[in-house]
Order: sequence, then C-alpha cells, then structure tokens
Amino acid sequence: MEFIDLKAQRKRLGDKLTQSIQAVLEGGHYIQGAQVAQLEEKLAAYTGRKFCVSCSSGTSALLLPMMAWGIGAGDAVFVPDFTFFATAEMVALTGATPVFVDVEEHTFNLSAACLEEAVLQIKREGQLRPRAVIPVDLFGLPADYEALLPVANRYDLLVLEDAAQGFGGSLKGRKACTFGNASATSFFPAKPLGCYGDGGAVFTDDPALAELLRSLRVHGHGADKYDNIRIGLNARLDTVQAAILLCKLEIFEEELELRRRAAGMYTEHLRGRVTVPDIPSGFASSFAQYTIRLRDSEQRALVMERLKKAGIPTMVYYGKTMHEQKAFAGLQIPAVKCPNALKAASQVLSLPMHPYLTRRQIEAVSDELLQTVLA
Ligand SMILES: *Cc1c(COP(=O)(O)O)cnc(C)c1O
Repeated sequence: MEFIDLKAQRKRLGDKLTQSIQAVLEGGHYIQGAQVAQLEEKLAAYTGRKFCVSCSSGTSALLLPMMAWGIGAGDAVFVPDFTFFATAEMVALTGATPVFVDVEEHTFNLSAACLEEAVLQIKREGQLRPRAVIPVDLFGLPADYEALLPVANRYDLLVLEDAAQGFGGSLKGRKACTFGNASATSFFPAKPLGCYGDGGAVFTDDPALAELLRSLRVHGHGADKYDNIRIGLNARLDTVQAAILLCKLEIFEEELELRRRAAGMYTEHLRGRVTVPDIPSGFASSFAQYTIRLRDSEQRALVMERLKKAGIPTMVYYGKTMHEQKAFAGLQIPAVKCPNALKAASQVLSLPMHPYLTRRQIEAVSDELLQTVLA
C-alpha cells in the first residue's frame, strides 16, 4: 500500500498530462511561459483571491511576503509550535524571531487565546516588536480565522496564512488561501494539489503586495530583469510544473470529494476507539493528512510496527515541536509554554491518505490498527 498514491493519479490523467508536458517541451518557454500566467489566473479564481503569484516552493511562498513587508531583526513573528519546520524556519531566515505559540488540543491549529497571551508577553518583555502571525492550516483544516483575525487586528499583526496543506479546505464556504493579508501554498507532490517537483504560490487581495512579490521572485526587478531595484530571489515556478498543475486542477474538486469520502470511511471504523480528526462545524478539510491521536508514543510505536509488518506505511507528522528543534537553539527565542503541541507530538499518527484509497484498503488499515489498540 502507498502512503500517497501518485501513480494512480498519473494513470488516471493519462495522455492528457503527457500532452501538456509535451506542449511545454516543444513550446520552448521553460521559464514564465504562458501556462504560468494561466495557472495564476485559475488559482486566483478557484480560491476567490484577487491575485495569485506563483513561485518555486511553499517555502519561498512563506518567505516572499515577509520580505515584501520588510520583516527582519527585532520583529516577533508568531507561529504555531506544532507545524512543519519551514513555517518557523523562514521567519528566522528573515532575521526576525519566531515565537512559538501553542495549538488547540483537538484541531492542532494555532490557539487564538494562546496567541493573545504570547503577544502580551512579548510586549511586556519589550525586546521585540510584534509584527506578524503565521497560522497554519494543518493537515488540511483551516485555522480558526474567526478567532485569530480579531486578535491579529487588535495588536496590528500582519497575517500570513500557511496553507501549504490547506489548499482546497474552507471555512463557512470561504476557501483556504483567502485568509489574512497574504496566503502561502505549496505544490510539493504530496500536498493536496501537487506538481512533479517543487512549486508554490502566494495569494493576496493587495495589488501593491502582488506587484512587489512579482518583483521579489525575479531578483527584485524593476522595469525589466536587468533593472534591479531591490534584493530578491530566483523563486519562479517552472512552466512545465504550471502545465502539470493546470491539468491536475481539472480533477481537483473531484479528488477532494474522494479524499473526504476516504476520511469519512476511516472515521466510521475508528471513532470511539482512537481519537479521529476533529472537523468543527463550518470547516471543511482538504485532508492533506488523516491524522489520528493515540494514547502515547509507546502505543504509537506498537501500532506503527504492526502496520509496517502488514505492508501499511504510516508517518508521524510531527514528532518534534518547533521549540525542540536544534536549529533554533542558538536563537534568543522567548519561552512560551506549549503543552498541547508537546502532547500532539507524542500522540499523532498519519494514516495512508489519497483520493484513490479503496474501501477495502481503509478496512485493512483500520482492522490492523484496532488489533493493536484494543489488545
Ligand atoms: C510543505 C509545507 C511547507 C513547505 O512547502 P514546500 O513546498 O515543501 O517548500 C510549509 N509549511 C507547511 C505547513 C507545509 O506542510
């Protein structure tokens, strides 16, 4: 069994995908070809944002808006303690200080109450200037923006949504990638909408920011590529990846439905025996991952071993919180307590999840799992 079955999707897309790639090869516009602008237009329309600026990865999609906002040394940027490393890494790369904030126990997403406490703590300590917050739509579930945005407004924080896993999710009908001042997503192959390499995009409704992002992704260009008016990057999305994404976008809605169906089947089997994903009312997850919670890390190790023997891959996203990462050890990061993040890191387990899981596969995973849990 595959953890994420990209081959099944490839097979389904068949000649159409091959022809899209072929068209790029023959067309010869490998950088910023017509497909890139086409994709940006389609993605903006899909999410409901005014602008989409594609880029080289989800990581650069996080970095570019922070560069545009001039975030750097002396700034505090609040990030969940339980996330993928890049969220906090890019803050540190700008020279700003990532402040790790606890998450909600049941959704794994940034807690608005803990955010407010952390902001007040930073203000009291007086060393750093609270500048921005990066809520993460973890495992595909949008963060609770109805609770988070008022806190951000109260303290004048810029909001950068990390929707690397969230693309396709929604909150009261509003799609992920539309929350806050800017949103970042990733097209890494394993994400809900993935290409065949690295890719990402930034979304915003702010025309000035969109223009700045376009400049920053190509060496801070002005009138043209050789007129450089600011320090930027080479962070473009390849034309071939845009062509692949255009093709995959055609079946994305249907794939989302299939993911939700698979999640529903898992939940049907597992509810009441292990802690299944909590999708609060009004929220829709893109189910980038189907992540359960076990009693503790010992039980999790037993489950993983048993499933592995049965040929079923599982993953721990994430076994280490941000404040435990060695990379941040040298930074003077204010200590904020994050008990829920620590608990999550010891309990979470992600099961195989993709649109092409069969009922039989889901039953097989659930049965194996329950035999360990109920033993
Ligand atoms: C994958 C991911 C990223 C980084 O995206 P890349 O395309 O791999 O650079 C950032 N944040 C989160 C939450 C992610 O899951």
